[in-house]
Formats: sequence, structure tokens, C-alpha cells
Amino acid sequence: MLSKKDENTRLDFIRQIVAEDLKTNKWNGRVVTRFPPEPNGYLHIGHAKSICLNFGIAAEFGGRCHLRFDDTNPEKEEQEYVDSIIEDVHWLGWDWGEHLYYGSDYFEQMFEYAVRLVEKGKAYVCDLTAEQTRQYRGTLTEPGTESPFRNRSIEENLELLERMRAGEFPDGSRTLRAKIDMAHPNLNMRDPVMYRIVHAAHHRTGEKWCIYPMYDWAHGLEDCVERITHSVCTLEFENHRPLYDWFLDELGVYHPQQIEFARLNLTYTVMSKRRLLQLVQEGLVGDWDDPRMPTISGFRRRGYSPEAIREFCKRIGVNKFNSTVDIALLEHCLRENLNKTSPRVMAVLRPLKVVIDNYPEGQVEELDAVNNPEDPAAGTRKVPFSRELYIEREDFMEEPPKKFFRLAPGREVRLRYAYFVTCTDVVKDAKGEVAELHCTYDPATRGGDAPDGRKVKSTLHWVCAERSLEAEVRLYDHLFTKENPDDVAEGMDFKSNLNPNSLEVLTSCKVEPSLAEAKPLSRHQFERLGYFCVDPDSSEGRLVFNRTATLRDTWAKIQKAQERRK
Ligand code: ATP
Ligand code: MG
Repeated sequence: MLSKKDENTRLDFIRQIVAEDLKTNKWNGRVVTRFPPEPNGYLHIGHAKSICLNFGIAAEFGGRCHLRFDDTNPEKEEQEYVDSIIEDVHWLGWDWGEHLYYGSDYFEQMFEYAVRLVEKGKAYVCDLTAEQTRQYRGTLTEPGTESPFRNRSIEENLELLERMRAGEFPDGSRTLRAKIDMAHPNLNMRDPVMYRIVHAAHHRTGEKWCIYPMYDWAHGLEDCVERITHSVCTLEFENHRPLYDWFLDELGVYHPQQIEFARLNLTYTVMSKRRLLQLVQEGLVGDWDDPRMPTISGFRRRGYSPEAIREFCKRIGVNKFNSTVDIALLEHCLRENLNKTSPRVMAVLRPLKVVIDNYPEGQVEELDAVNNPEDPAAGTRKVPFSRELYIEREDFMEEPPKKFFRLAPGREVRLRYAYFVTCTDVVKDAKGEVAELHCTYDPATRGGDAPDGRKVKSTLHWVCAERSLEAEVRLYDHLFTKENPDDVAEGMDFKSNLNPNSLEVLTSCKVEPSLAEAKPLSRHQFERLGYFCVDPDSSEGRLVFNRTATLRDTWAKIQKAQERRK
């Protein structure tokens, strides 16, 4: 058995803090976390790390996790984003029960708290413009300069604040600022802005407000109102923590603990909502859910399973150092999961017709095929076989090099679940390209084995020409050509690293008839080709598939090579 100490060291540093707090009863046995997205874009895989951390901690320690929209910036926020975020967190497998909150629901309370700070002489209305405020702020090496409005009387500040709220002043003409220290070494503490004037409709509060709280002011109060215990956020907020603490301490209210961890970065991926929005708005991808996007909705459409993403988040762990994770690890978690769960089918992406000359014309037989060798309970299905079939174009070579063991003139191979066939003739079109193959089959090899024990060196997948279904298949590659999309030439931006070949569309693929019933987003392994998922663009009679991943696991290879070196 593990000692208590060992058990604790297996926990990441945040879980260690939570476990310790439970032991000392710091929060009276409560564990309350939150995931606080701003509804200004779709969630991405980085958010998944934060989601799995916050909801995971709540689940493991018998607490709860709130889903809270940090909707304090009306100009960039939309209901569409709220809806997508709700869908994505649910799809990942987490549930907040009745604990769905909106920062905007606390606007009134936040305003009352602001009045309290003004009354304490800890906040003032400032008439400097945004540009002037920046100039007065100073730099890392020079202290800032106090605003000429800093010493207004409490009465004047209260009156101006009310008039700000009442809409008497134009956008940007005044702010409410905390009165802290313009010489503070942490720039965030140099009289930070708490409210700005923005005459913009909010997706929830409509025209009710024309002053909106800044992130630092709003966030701690949202945590406070919801009686969060552990307010987990990414490292860039580390030097905002003194301000988080200052606001709550000055108000003398309930005070959660802010804890920072390193955000997720992935190779070949950009992960800021601003940039993802740019890709969408400039038409460089289809939409937020384009299967090349690192968004949750993109991964879902691509065919990723929530289990794979959760496993990935577990494997990368949580720490305090920024680093970049190899996207091959995410794909490895995906393959591990899909290998266990996705039924096998046969599909031909680039079809080449094969005629079995000695097979009876008009005959169709149903052969048994295994649905998933990893899962005996998945059973078998029937696949039709007939005189005319399709195989993969690249599985035939007229003049095969030494290591090519697949079909070639005069050579015998196995058709999976069917028969041994031997290529007897090659028909070419006017351009001299291979148009059709003729073969003979050996009826004694039904099911794929020769009774005389003779062997063949390869097994090919195939589909029945008459009964197969037409399909479009979309093949994807990394959206960027460089591991670090920010590695750009002088004067260029990340978009110059977009991969022009990130999408290849094949329109005349053939898939086995059992896929006629396949539901949108269902995942399948196409034998020998990879994992594929039915795209929602599919319609009656027109199947569209996305390639989720190939079968080649580069992460497993890297691991093996490392072990060999040890
Ligand atoms: P971006 O700056 O990339 O547009 P954001 O961090 O501002 O996004 P929010 O909606 O504020 O987006 O994020 C909600 C939560 O998700 C925050 O707690 C944030 O720290 C966390 N988060 C965002 N990106 C990552 C990431 N790459 N890795 C881990 N957590 C992240
Ligand atoms: Mg943010």
C-alpha cells in the first residue's frame, strides 16, 4: 500500500494544495472550482486542459465545479459562443448541474462594491484618456505619475460614478480606478482601471449598463460571490494575483485562493482565440469547427473522442513551467482509444477496378468480416463479394520493386475475409495508365486461408463494385507547416506558415455497404488506412468522411526509440 506521503507526491501541485486544505479544514471541507471562459470564441484544446483540471479536481475531491461565463466585454461577446461552450464542455463529459453562472448577473453587486471602495477612499474617477493613462503609468524601470484627478473628494467621486453609470459621459472619457500606488514595482498595482465607459449592448443585460468592469476587478468578485475555494488560472495571471488579493482584502469579503498553472501549447498549433477568429473571419478555414482547427468542435468533427482528449489532459499533467507538447502525444491518445472502440470496415480511397474472370457472373456472396479484433463482443458482419471489385490503386504495381509485396502481374495475394487472387492481365487506357486488372481466384481459399498451406505475402482490403457506396473523403494534415507557427521571417505573421496541403478532398471513394447506416460523427477504422468519421455534411445518398488519423503512431515510435537507447 502507498503511504500517505507517496499518495500525495503522485498528485500534481494543485491537487496537493486541495488535499492539504481538506486535511486542515481550511475551507470547512468545501472544494469549489470554476471554469470561467469569456464567450468571445469557441473553446480550444488549451481550454480542455483547464476544464479537465477544474472539473477533475471537483469530481475527485467530492466538490463541485461551476461553469461561469466571464461576460464583461460586450463588444466581443455573443450568444453563439455561449451556446458552443456549453455544448463543448458537456461533450467532453463534464457537468455543472445547476451551477451555471454569468459574471453579468453580478454587475449590480460589483457596482455596490465599487461604491464601497470609493467611500473608503480607495477608488476614484479619473478623466485621463486611455493614451494619457498609459503614459502616466510609467515603465518597469520608472515609477508612474499620479493622475491629477487622484485626490478628488469622496463626494465628488461618488457623484461622478453615478453619472458614469447613468450614461452622461461618452465612451472612454472617464474611468473608475483603484487608488493603490503609482510607484508600485508591479505595474498591475499602479491605480488599475476598474470600470470603463462603453455604450454597447450586452448579449444578456442589453442596454442596462454603459460602464463595464475590467477583468481584474470582476474576476475576484465573481469568485467571491460564488464562494469558490480554489481559483485556478494560467501563469500569465501570476502577477495579477496581488491585485486579486488587494481588491478582496480592501473589501473585507470572502477570499478564494488563486493558483496559477502553465497553459498548454501544442506543436503545429496556434491557440489564441484572437488568431483562431482571424482564421475563421479571413476564410482560411471553413469555420470554427473545421476539422483542422484545434477547437473542441473541430476535434469533434474530425472524429476525436472525448475520452481521448481527457486521457491526453491527464497524461500532460499540470505544472508551473511553460512548455510545448508534441501533438503526436494527442494523436497517440486518440489512436489508443479508437483502436479499442471503432469498428473496422473496408473502404477504397483511390479505386482500381478488378475483374475476377473465373468468378460466376451475376453471383454475389456474403462473407463474414470481424468488426473489431480488439473487442470480441463487437461480433461480425457480412460483406458482399462479386466478380467486379475495387482495390486501392497503390496496392498494385506493374513493375514492383523488391520490397513491394502487394499485387503485381502473376502474383497471388489475399483479399481480406475473401479469397486468394492472382493477377493475370493489366488493361490500360488511351493514356497508358492502368485502368483495370484481371485476376483469377482460388475457390478453395474462401475466408482467406489455403487448405494446402500455401502462403501469400500480403492481404489487401477491397470493396464489391456493384454494392459499394460512393463517398467523399477529406484527408487532413497539420494546419501549419512549422512546429512553431510563430517561427516566421521578418515582417511576416503566423499565417505565412499555413500548410497549403492541409486538406485534400477525394471525391470518388468506395465504401462497403454496411456504412449506409452510419450516423453523423460515428467513427470507423478503414482497414489498413486509418480512422475516419462521418462528417455532418453527409446526406441521404452522399456519404462524407473525415480522416481522423492515420494508423501510424509516431509517438509510440519515439517512445520505443528512447527505450532502445536506454
Ligand atoms: P485566449 O487568450 O487564448 O484567447 P483566454 O485564455 O483569454 O483565451 P478564456 O475564455 O479567458 O480564454 O479562458 C478560460 C479559461 O481557460 C481561463 O481560466 C484560461 O486560463 C484557460 N485557458 C485558456 N487557454 C489555455 C491554455 N492554452 N491552456 C490551459 N488553460 C487555458
Ligand atoms: Mg482570458
